[in-house]
Amino acid sequence: MPELPEVETVMRGMQIALQGHIIQNVIVRRDDLRWRIPADFSQSVSGRRVIGFRRRGKYILIRLSGDRTIVLHLGMSGRIVLDSAAMAAPHEHVVFVTEDGKRCAFIDPRRFGMIDLVETEQEESYRLLKGMGPEPLEPAFSSTTLEKAFAKKSASIKTVLLDQKVVAGLGNIYVCEALYRAGIHPEREAGSLKKQQIKLLTKAIQTVLEEAIAAGGSSLKDYVRPEGGLGYFQHAWRVYGRKGLPCPDCPKHPGCTGVEQITQAGRSTFFCPIRQKIA
Ligand SMILES: [Zn+2]
Repeated sequence: MPELPEVETVMRGMQIALQGHIIQNVIVRRDDLRWRIPADFSQSVSGRRVIGFRRRGKYILIRLSGDRTIVLHLGMSGRIVLDSAAMAAPHEHVVFVTEDGKRCAFIDPRRFGMIDLVETEQEESYRLLKGMGPEPLEPAFSSTTLEKAFAKKSASIKTVLLDQKVVAGLGNIYVCEALYRAGIHPEREAGSLKKQQIKLLTKAIQTVLEEAIAAGGSSLKDYVRPEGGLGYFQHAWRVYGRKGLPCPDCPKHPGCTGVEQITQAGRSTFFCPIRQKIA
């Protein structure tokens, strides 16, 4: 599932292709995504110019002339493909066609994604964005923000970080990686973390996201990739998906059996029991 860095990469790719262009036509082949696309979506978007982009959590906001914003979420399996093919790809539910003939297709086999249109000045109060937590890469985000959010919370730190009301844009992968970097056990009670640990965690969250965005940025060089779409790039995870394999620290610890996998709130967690002690 795309998380903040993947969504940021997709957004930047769309920006390269669409910024300044007029959306001449919108083809809606299927409107029954996670939520139904408004019946007048195509009509309301056609003829407007793309004037700006913004990411909020895992949502892409495409600002159009005339005070309208397209809100787009990739869901579990959604991707964006930019090409000029005349043939529709399988599961290509929505296609934006620009005045110069470029196609921007939304492909989503599982249809957990969504597309909606709002008034630009209503972005913040839009039902899916309202109440979303702070952006971890904005300057205002600090360990104090997290300290306040964690206070008195008895849930595990892993679960709390996945809550979009606490931090926007984090998902399973980057939470595992950030907790590893900060040396915090994923089952640790959020409210029990010390100031110093929260400082390390804040920095770790920002570092894993920034590194991934940088990796995504270099993948944009060949952004016209019909087979893969935007935003799916190679990562070198330290613990995620590496059950039984050594983390970078493991060789320093004799007897270490490598990364462990547990299930928390129905989702896989990967961690190093040596680097991430529960106490
Ligand atoms: Zn290790």
